[in-house]
Amino acid sequence: LDASGEGLNSEEQNYEKSIRPAVLSDFKGQKKIVNNLEIFIQAAKQRNEALDHVLLHGPPGLGKTTLSHIISTEMGTALKMTSGPVLEKPGDLAGLLTNLEEGDVLFIDEIHRLNNIVEEYLYSAMEDYRIDIMIDSGPNARSVQLNLEPFTLIGATTRMGLLTAPMRARFGINFLLDYYDIQTLQGIIERSAGILNIPITSEGSFEISKRSRGTPRIANALLRRIRDFAQIKGNGTIDIEISKMGLDALNVDDSGLDEMDNRIIDTIINKFKGGPVGISTIATAVGEESGTIEEVHEPFLIMEGYIQRTPRGREATLKAYQHLGVVAPNKNNTLF
Ligand code: ADP
Repeated sequence: LDASGEGLNSEEQNYEKSIRPAVLSDFKGQKKIVNNLEIFIQAAKQRNEALDHVLLHGPPGLGKTTLSHIISTEMGTALKMTSGPVLEKPGDLAGLLTNLEEGDVLFIDEIHRLNNIVEEYLYSAMEDYRIDIMIDSGPNARSVQLNLEPFTLIGATTRMGLLTAPMRARFGINFLLDYYDIQTLQGIIERSAGILNIPITSEGSFEISKRSRGTPRIANALLRRIRDFAQIKGNGTIDIEISKMGLDALNVDDSGLDEMDNRIIDTIINKFKGGPVGISTIATAVGEESGTIEEVHEPFLIMEGYIQRTPRGREATLKAYQHLGVVAPNKNNTLF
């Protein structure tokens, strides 16, 4: 049930595919992005040009891959997908680029993980639709310039801070995806339930959306699990009781925090006196990679007001103490 989608098996991937919105009008929430995209796409089509390069950033599971599918569909062009760590050398990229047809979309997930050499190679492709390739070898080796068809690069990243400035500057369109509000998530859950023929009451979908960490991927994954509870423990319909029972059984608490979120808060409060404590220290203590904490857990915990970032590290807030039912120390108390 984690948001990253990294460990999805093929059945889960098929599940995601079956409920993935295919057109912009089915993509819920992110209104600003959707409205702007509509205009940029229409304008590019009118001019018969490829859409400008697009950078999508935000935590995992918020719709970056989905949006890139939608963009290519709306542009009426093909989509090729790859990811930063897969592109080891310029040759890997050259193969993909030379196969693109006019207006095609190349999606590079985790674009912050491109190595320097490949990244620099990408610059001229993005800017001038041109790359250098080496032909022949030994004394006859020489580099020739190759023109590419105009294409759109869509880069997705969960870690804007790790993207180099020159890379960032080469994207004409730059969107930050936000966590979704409960009403929007409820709409997403009900749409998915409709596609999958799962009976669900609006209280049921509300309860699931409340506990989905603002993330469509989690909302859909929870829907799938709660369906099992409805089938075995109920009459097949996801209502409020079944939702609550299932979510509790899955250790998703009332505030929507998952196990790792809770472990992080608990660690800061009970092991490090509420902080400040560094991210790598937290990571070691909870047994999770610090990158995952920074990408997945921290943004949500900060947005919800459980922790705050200070120059000296992460600190638990009063809300975090209340959440754990622990009395917060009064740091201004002169008695201590
Ligand atoms: P990311 O690439 O940001 O990790 P995805 O695009 O793979 O996230 O989205 C994860 C899942 O959530 C997909 O199954 C998709 O159908 C669903 N989803 C994401 N955003 C939306 C949205 N705005 N409306 C409906 N479903 C969405």
